[in-house]
Amino acid sequence: MKIRIQIVMEAANGESERIEDIAELERNSLQPETLGLTLAESKKLLQGIQQRMVSEQVAEYMAQFNTCPDCGACRTRKGQHTLVYRTLFGKLNLISPRLYDCACHQPHQARHSSSPLATWLEAHSSPELLYLETKFASLMSYGLSIRLLSEVLPIANEVNATSMRRHQQQIAERIESELGEEQFQFIKGCPDEWRRQPRPEPPLTVGLDGGYVHASDQKSRTEGWFEVITGKSVKADGDAKVFAFVNKYDAKPKRRLYEVLKSQGLQMNQQVVFLSDGGDTVRSLQRYLSPESEHLLDWFHITMRLTVMKQMTKGIIKELAVQKKHQKEADESENTDVPAQLLKQLESIKWHLWHGNVTEALALIYDVNVDLEIWEENPTNKKKLLKLVCEFENYIRANGAFIPNYGERYRHNETISTAFVESTVNYVISKRFVKKQQMRWTQRGAHLLLQTRVQVLNDDLRKTFGRWFQGMSVVENEESKMAA
Ligand SMILES: [Zn+2]
Repeated sequence: MKIRIQIVMEAANGESERIEDIAELERNSLQPETLGLTLAESKKLLQGIQQRMVSEQVAEYMAQFNTCPDCGACRTRKGQHTLVYRTLFGKLNLISPRLYDCACHQPHQARHSSSPLATWLEAHSSPELLYLETKFASLMSYGLSIRLLSEVLPIANEVNATSMRRHQQQIAERIESELGEEQFQFIKGCPDEWRRQPRPEPPLTVGLDGGYVHASDQKSRTEGWFEVITGKSVKADGDAKVFAFVNKYDAKPKRRLYEVLKSQGLQMNQQVVFLSDGGDTVRSLQRYLSPESEHLLDWFHITMRLTVMKQMTKGIIKELAVQKKHQKEADESENTDVPAQLLKQLESIKWHLWHGNVTEALALIYDVNVDLEIWEENPTNKKKLLKLVCEFENYIRANGAFIPNYGERYRHNETISTAFVESTVNYVISKRFVKKQQMRWTQRGAHLLLQTRVQVLNDDLRKTFGRWFQGMSVVENEESKMAA
C-alpha cells in the first residue's frame, strides 16, 4: 500500500487552494513495527509540513511590504540574505530581502532600506524551542538534554551544549529582570489595616536550608564549593513552592522569597513559620517579611547532630570493649563508665531540648564537655567527639531564642521540622548540580540555572513563556484541544 501525504493550503478568503505533496509512505506486509508511523517518518513529516507552512506564512507576511502603502508602487530590492531560524522541527533557511523605502517618502535623499523579515524574527530560535531547551536543561545535564531532544525531534546536529546553555541563561536573565527591587523589609501597612483584612488562611510553613555546589574557579578537587540556599514554602493544604539562589551572587534574596510567599497568597495578617538550622544567612533572609512570623530552629537539625554524637560514642564503647579483651587485667566497669554515662546524658539533652528547656540542656552539654575532657582514656575518636560537643554547645547557645517547646507544638500538630527541606536540597540542588562530581559551576551559571530549575519544578516555566509570547498556550499538551 502507498500512502501519499499532502498538505492543502487555503487562502484566507477560501477562494483558492493549493495542494502540495509532503511525503509518500509505503507499507507491505503488516508487522507490529510498521503499523502506523516510525519515529524517522514522523520527524520527516513534521519537518516537511512545517517547511511548506513557513514558506506560505513568510510569503504572506512579506506581501504587505512589497508595495508602498502610500502610492502603491513596487519597492525595489537592495539585495537579500539567508536568515537562519531554529525551531522544534528543524532549522529554517529563510530568504530575507532588503527593500528600499519608496521614492515617494524621501524623493531627494539617499534612499533608506530595511529587512522586514529580519526585524520580525529578531531572535533566531522559536519560543517553543527555547522553552524545551530550557526545560530539559533545567532538569538534566546539557548533554543528556541534547540527546533527548535530537532523538525525538528533527533537530539532530542543530542543538549543542553551548547554544543550549546560552539560551537557558538568556531565559533565566529575563526571568531575573522581572524580579522587583530588593528592600530591607517587605512588611506593608500597619496593624490597623492588618486587622481589617479578611480572615487569613492557615499558616505558611517555610523551611530554609543550604547546600553546596562545586566551584569552577578552584584548582584542587577537594576544595572550592559555594553555598546555595534553597527552601520550600508549604501551604496548609500541601501546595508547595521551592526557591533557590546562590548566596554570594544573589543581590535580591529577600525579594525572591517574598515573591514566593506572595504567589502563595500571603496576607499580612497571616502567620508564617520559618524553620531553619540557624545560620546568619537564612536568619537575615527571613526577617521583615511578615509581621506575623515565627522563627524556629529546626528540630530535624538538632536531632541530626545528636545522632552523630551518639553514633560516635557507641563506636568508642565498641573500641574500648575490643581493647579490654586484650588486656584482661583492666577494670571493665570503670573504663566503660564514661561513654555509657555519655549516652544517657545525650538522651537527656535531647529530652530537654524537645521540651524547649534550653538552660537545662546547656548545663548538661557543659557537663558532657567536662566529663570528656577529664576522662583519662584516649580512644580514637575522643577528640572528634569533644569537638562536636563544643560545636553543639555553640549552636544551641546561638539559637537558644529560636528553640520552642517542640513537644507541645508536636501535640498541636504544628510543624517542628524541615526534614521536608532536607529533601528539597536534594530535589533542587543535588540532582542537577552535585551528582556528577566532575561538573564545576560558576556562581552566575549555577544561580541562573537554579532560577529556571525552580520554575520547572514549580510548574511555572510554561506560564512564564505564555506571558511573554501570547501565541503560546500555557498548557503544554494541547492535543485534546486540537482534536476538538
Ligand atoms: Zn510610495
